[in-house]
Amino acid sequence: MEFKFLMPTEIHFGIDAVLKNRELFRTLGKKALVVTGRSSAKKNGSFDDVSRALTETGVEYVLFDEVEENPSLETVEKGSDLGKRSNVDFVIGIGGGSPMDAAKAMAVFIKNPHINQDNIFSAGKLESLPVVAVPTTAGTGSEVTPYSIVTSNREKTKKNLGQIIFPRYAFVDCKYTYSLPYDITVNTAIDAFSHLVEGYLNANSSFMSDIYAEKGFELFRYCFEKLVNRDLDSEFREKVMLASVLGGVQIAQNGTSLPHGMGYMLTYFKGLPHGLANGVLTIEYLKTFRDRTKLNRMLGFLGLGSIDELEAILNKLIDVKIDITDDEINEFSMSFAGNKDKLKNHPEKVEFDDIVRIYRNSLVKQ
Ligand code: NAP
Ligand code: FE
Repeated sequence: MEFKFLMPTEIHFGIDAVLKNRELFRTLGKKALVVTGRSSAKKNGSFDDVSRALTETGVEYVLFDEVEENPSLETVEKGSDLGKRSNVDFVIGIGGGSPMDAAKAMAVFIKNPHINQDNIFSAGKLESLPVVAVPTTAGTGSEVTPYSIVTSNREKTKKNLGQIIFPRYAFVDCKYTYSLPYDITVNTAIDAFSHLVEGYLNANSSFMSDIYAEKGFELFRYCFEKLVNRDLDSEFREKVMLASVLGGVQIAQNGTSLPHGMGYMLTYFKGLPHGLANGVLTIEYLKTFRDRTKLNRMLGFLGLGSIDELEAILNKLIDVKIDITDDEINEFSMSFAGNKDKLKNHPEKVEFDDIVRIYRNSLVKQ
């Protein structure tokens, strides 16, 4: 057997993880750039906890609270300008995947002042300032992945920054997710689920990464039932957060594949939230598998007998109605067919017609 397994992020999971570990902030420097979305971090208690932890340990901070969903490189530049002017030593991302990913990208831009949106994708490997991640959705798993997904308005798509930015610390406290409305809870949970699926049915999967995925599927067996019943208690919040961390650890090793790569176009051009974009493509993607041995094992961990049973659950949770033309399907398919990074993660050969079929059967209702 052979595998490589890398998880340099120190994960602190549990209620009050930020305050209980406040001393760790001081190990990263004297001044931090705190990066959040526009409002949720101030409402769900995460910003207050971080601000208190910093104040009590004598770490100064400046706040950048303008990160939008699917953060643009323009926003990354704006936040890093603040970080550079303020001479910060490290960056703290608080929020869903958008602020955490933006914080990671800013940590690269601040450390390398010559980097901007014109040269980042051709820059080669760069160092970054240390990053601390505090997730408030469950989720992207970004707190434990090396990825930073940004929106390039010049290339008209979302893409990985291409740098390896594992947060130094992840403080994971599911109490911040208690305030998540039902629809965002569903969308973000489906993102976590799609990480587990795409990482498991993946050309790079290994004995080690499968351990994380299989535990994650067992958690989802419980979480799907709670989501369908709209019974979002604290036990559910903890378990779905755990599943999200497991999914993150796993995609940090293996990467994602078709639904993620194909979904980016649906988010950029059709405005679908990230988790929904993956979720709407998942069933047709699963149906393309010619060898279903591992897929059937996955269904077993989920307590399901068939893809149809999984489809019935997803249909109860998501209802995507978008208008899409044949030309658009063709354009999106051509664009994805050029995404070698995602295609090489898929364990079977994918033809152009498979890609078209996944988009069409998922999005054009018969
Ligand atoms: P998000 O875009 O970060 O946030 C979605 C919405 O949820 C925002 O309106 C946000 O409000 C709100 N929100 C966040 N936490 C909340 C809370 N606790 N209570 C109430 N509202 C809350 O959503 P996300 O799905 O977590 O992140 C998606 C992004 O992550 C995408 O760009 C995706 O590509 C990326 N992603 C990254 C990775 C990775 O490994 N790096 C993996 C998967 C996905 P505010 O704006 O006010 O905060
Ligand atoms: Fe994702």
